[in-house]
Amino acid sequence: MGRKYRVVLSVLTVLFLGWVVATPVDADTILPVRVTDHIFVIADKGGNVGVFIGKDGTFLIDDSFAPLTEKIVAAIKSVGGDFPRFLINTHFHGDHTGGNENLGSGGTLIFAHDNVRQQLKDGAYLRAFDKKMVPTLPAGLPVVTFSEGLSFHINGDTVRVIHVSHAHTDGDSFIVFEQANVIHTGDIMFNGFYPFIDVDHGGSLLGTIQGVDIILSLTDDETVIIPGHGPLGDKVQLQQYREMLWTAYGRLKKLKEKGKTALEAADLEPLADIESAWGDGMFSGDEWIELIYPQI
Ligand SMILES: [Zn+2]
Repeated sequence: MGRKYRVVLSVLTVLFLGWVVATPVDADTILPVRVTDHIFVIADKGGNVGVFIGKDGTFLIDDSFAPLTEKIVAAIKSVGGDFPRFLINTHFHGDHTGGNENLGSGGTLIFAHDNVRQQLKDGAYLRAFDKKMVPTLPAGLPVVTFSEGLSFHINGDTVRVIHVSHAHTDGDSFIVFEQANVIHTGDIMFNGFYPFIDVDHGGSLLGTIQGVDIILSLTDDETVIIPGHGPLGDKVQLQQYREMLWTAYGRLKKLKEKGKTALEAADLEPLADIESAWGDGMFSGDEWIELIYPQI
């Protein structure tokens, strides 16, 4: 078994187990985490789902895996929300869009960047996980798409959806609740560990850093940050994450300029001093370097 193959297997087992082998979903209810009186996070097996409730209806950010839809809707109702009126997909990955067909067929209006709709329509192959995403049925496709961003004026807040090009994928958006001072970053931020960056679908480490910088420019000391994966965070944690990404980028760029391959670069352990802080989440430093190196 080659080294690349072992890396793929270990990533598979850690990251997308539920997605890949369809782990049975237990019957437990999900308890939403309260961010403000009207904003909640539902964190379970997929990406973090953002929920904004109020008199104009429930606004959802991402919808995790399809088998969780019922539990997610029950969780929304447990905090006073309704079946979602609006859904925004932060990007196309199945751990953020798996519930689209269930919600869309139930009447939820779905919004996403142009590239997200196209990718969902076409289906995709995620090489890093040897995972095929089948094309999404029409009921699950975004009805409203945009190229740069859009704004919702609902539930007493202004909600800005802002596209960032070539960050985690080629279709990422993050969401800003202006009055509440809450930001859902989508997968531009993984809080506390090396992030998955989908270099086969337009993502890059440098683009992710640029995306983080745009988010930071809209953040103050009071901002609550909902990352795509990991616990709730704040500006300091986003700055630390940015610093880690920038450090990694500088070191890997140098190795690439010297002509090192991804495996040669990983063998030199250029992230050894930050491994204990960032390498015990989804990816070890070795795995992460191999993943992102093609787009350094
Ligand atoms: Zn993702």
